[in-house]
Amino acid sequence: AAKNDGRGRARTFNRSMLIMLEQREMLRRSLRVALQEGQFFIEYQPLVELPEGIVGFEALLRWHHPYAGVVPPNLFIPMAEADGLMGEIGEWVLETACRQATTWPSHFIVAVNLSPAQFLLGGFTDRVAGILDKVGLAADRLELEITETVLLERTTNNLDTLNTLEVLGIRIALDDFGTRYSSLSYLQNFPFDTIKIDKHFINDVETNRNTQTIVRFIIGLAHGLGMRVTAEGVETVGQAAWLGRRKCDRLQGNLLGAPMAAEAIGDFLHHPSFATL
Ligand code: C2E
Ligand code: MG
Ligand code: MG
Ligand code: MG
Repeated sequence: AAKNDGRGRARTFNRSMLIMLEQREMLRRSLRVALQEGQFFIEYQPLVELPEGIVGFEALLRWHHPYAGVVPPNLFIPMAEADGLMGEIGEWVLETACRQATTWPSHFIVAVNLSPAQFLLGGFTDRVAGILDKVGLAADRLELEITETVLLERTTNNLDTLNTLEVLGIRIALDDFGTRYSSLSYLQNFPFDTIKIDKHFINDVETNRNTQTIVRFIIGLAHGLGMRVTAEGVETVGQAAWLGRRKCDRLQGNLLGAPMAAEAIGDFLHHPSFATL
């Protein structure tokens, strides 16, 4: 335990630190049984192309903890990764989301986020192909979202994996572009279909001239390379209009539709929230 001089301040600080650590530890331990206990579920967020409309949904993992409530993915996914659980959880997401997509209009895609652990595991492409086969989803209706972190290590193998996925007809999106290392050599070498501009750029795209320059650059870069661009975190009509004028291909964000339960999709398709755009 940390040193304590007997005065209130140090003790209080240590105690709240301890409570935080205990809560994290508690969550971490309950992650081990979450899959078997059926505590995970998926929300789906619409992907929109203008003027066509909805082209599909991104699957976003949620954990309903029995006491803590719904735990955000940015909190539990790193824990699951660290504990080696993300391979199995990711597989569940992939299969569940692909099966769900078979109930949607047949031109809709489903986008699924991949964790590094899943991607680096041997036989990944075979398992993806196996899942598509099992649930009966065409390969070109699956888009796998990876971040640059996934590509950091073992570059040759990663390139092989991505090329195999491409040959299968599966699309690849580079997620959160611009937030991490953003080495342009990834774009030179890897077969991405889509670049997703991180929502942190979209936030002030109407007002910040530096942001505007960066977003215009990313759109031009992607189009020059024959790739599509998605803007994530679009919240206002002004942002959507700005992006539309700059020929951003796809929009995603609360303006177009917040993540929703699978059961809500049918209703949403009849009354999309962006109908007035
Ligand atoms: P991401 O893949 O970049 O997903 C987009 C995030 O932006 C989601 O957060 C979504 O709910 C949020 N978002 C959407 N529209 C808006 C908006 O208009 N405003 C704002 N402020 N946020 C918006 P979420 O659901 O909390 O997920 C966070 C991250 O967790 C994801 O970021 C992804 O990296 C990761 N994640 C989610 N599901 C999975 C999964 O199944 N597997 C893996 N490996 N990672 C996942
Ligand atoms: Mg994503
Ligand atoms: Mg993203
Ligand atoms: Mg993001």
